[in-house]
This record gives sequence, structure tokens and C-alpha cells, in this order.
Amino acid sequence: KDTINKIAAGEVIERPASVVKELIDNSIDARATDIRIEIEKGGKRSILIRDNGCGMSREDALLAYKKHATSKLTRIEDLNTISTMGFRGEALSSITAVAKVEILTRPPEEITGTRIVIQGGKVLETSDAGTAPGTSVHVKDLFYNTPARQKYLKSDRTELAHITDTITQLALANPEISFTLLSEGKPVIRNAGSSDPFKSIVNLLGPDTARSMLPLEYRTEDFEILGYISKPETTRRESDQIFLFVNTRPVTSRAINKAIREGYYTKIPKERYPVAVLSLIVDPGEVDVNVHPRKAEVRFSREKELGDAVTFAIEKVLSENAL
Ligand code: ADP
Ligand code: MG
Repeated sequence: KDTINKIAAGEVIERPASVVKELIDNSIDARATDIRIEIEKGGKRSILIRDNGCGMSREDALLAYKKHATSKLTRIEDLNTISTMGFRGEALSSITAVAKVEILTRPPEEITGTRIVIQGGKVLETSDAGTAPGTSVHVKDLFYNTPARQKYLKSDRTELAHITDTITQLALANPEISFTLLSEGKPVIRNAGSSDPFKSIVNLLGPDTARSMLPLEYRTEDFEILGYISKPETTRRESDQIFLFVNTRPVTSRAINKAIREGYYTKIPKERYPVAVLSLIVDPGEVDVNVHPRKAEVRFSREKELGDAVTFAIEKVLSENAL
């Protein structure tokens, strides 16, 4: 109870991309290796996510959509040291409150699966169902019962762009997981899982961008900085494109973005912009991820040291490349 109260109560679901993010987080937590997403009308009409993860028993599935039902959080300290993505126990309850949802799920070791239909927070149907091992969640007519929120949604194309960004981030953060996104039945993202993270950069950011990237690997006693940064001669002209991960979780950090640019601009004129895919491994106790439940802006207890390390790592790889 106390734990719950310490979590900023807030609306988790803002737009179709928030649904996609929460459901993919759940699939990743369920140890899925293959995640397929199909959307219609920018996710406003329909979002279907299928995974091959651990599935749920009927009992668990009937609990899962209840507010603050989570199989993942026990103590408040866990919020600061989470290793899993999901930690609020709010996603499924928030989604099922504002959409028409069908969950099909089966743990691999069980013979029959479960089908649950929930609408506006109420269970309409529960039945046995044949289904592949894993979980599929079908979310239809998002915000059908909250027209005020529906009004704030943008065009199908803009909502699709948000979804594509979200999946690109999650797929870069989890290169060993296979991700597919279909919109109106047409493939938009396809990244077969691979142990080579560079392959996901090729698939997700395109071969041209991938060719322009330099691998970066830097370790201090306290931090590990791994990833790719674009070569100075291939910088972009419009804006930077920074994908940042902390302990494999996609995040944003103004301090680290600034540190990336600092390292970059020792070598580049300021009107050019870097592309960076950067994964930071940091003691979870030093990361504050709970600045806002919906935004992934993080703070670090030793932000200055970490930033300096990032700047240094980038300067180093760029000067080595210049030789
Ligand atoms: P949280 O992820 O914070 O625990 P959610 O509301 O997102 O909360 O999910 C509630 C619970 O439902 C999870 O803790 C998990 O036990 C179960 N669950 C949700 N999605 C899946 C899935 N794709 N596969 C297996 N279990 C799931
Ligand atoms: Mg979750």
C-alpha cells in the first residue's frame, strides 16, 4: 500500500504508442523472444500484440488487469533497483479501463489457454481457448469511453510515427528479441533477433546510417559505456538522433545528451548532428527512473562523473578514427 502511494499516480496511457510500449514491456518481462505488433489506423482502431513468453494461468490472467496487480514488485527499494521494466502494476488496468481488450494466453506447459474479454474495466467473458504458448493482447477502440482524450489524438500517420519510434527504441534496447510491426497489414519494422547488436542497427536505422557508425566501448571502475556513434563526416543536417539505454531500458537524459554533444563537438562543427546508440551500464542504485511515470527521463546520483565519462569515450573513439 505504502509502496503504491509512493508511486506517482498518473495516467499511464496517453496515446496508442503508450499502449504499445506497456504491452511490449510486459512481453519482454515474460521473456518473449518473438514479439509481433499489428496496428490499424495508427493504433486508434486496433493494436494487437502477440508474444511467445511465459503466458498466464487463468487465475493470473484474471488478476492481471486489476489495478496494482503486479507479479513484479514487492518493496519500495525495488523501484530504485528494478531490473525488470514493469514495476507499477498499472498498465493493464489502465488500458482495459479505456478500451475493448481481448487477452488470449497460455503457459507453454498447459494444454488449454484462456480467453478474457474486458471492456471499460469489466470482464465480459472468460473461457477456455486454444492458442499458441504465450500471450496475445488485442486492444480495440482506444478511449472509446473517454471522448475528451480521444480528441487529443493526432492523425493516423502521426500516431503510427510515435509507435514506430517506440518500437525502434525497444528493439535497439533488446537486439536479441525479434520484433515485427505491421500497419494495415504492411510490414513497417522487421528485426529478427540477433546476438549481434549491429544487425539491429542495420535493420532499424537503415544500412546507410549503420555504415556511418563507429563502435564505442569504454569502461571505468563504475560505469560501462557501449554502443555506436556516427562518424564525423556522415553527421546529419537536421537534428540529432540519440537512442539512450540505461541497464537496457530506453530512457532520456538531458545530462547525457549534453555530454554526447560535448564529446562530439570537439571534432565537428556545431551545425552538424550526431546519431548515437548508447547503452550505459550503471549500478541500479544510482539511477532514479521514477521522475515521472510516463516519461522515461532519468537522473543519476553521479551525473557529472557519468557525463564526463561519456564525453571522454566519444572524444576518444572519434580521435582514434581520425588517425
Ligand atoms: P506490471 O508489468 O507493472 O507488473 P501490468 O499491468 O503491466 O503490470 O501487468 C500486470 C501483470 O500481468 C504482470 O505483472 C504479469 O504478471 C501479467 N502479464 C501482463 N502481460 C503479460 C504477458 N505478455 N505475459 C505474461 N504475463 C503478463
Ligand atoms: Mg507492465
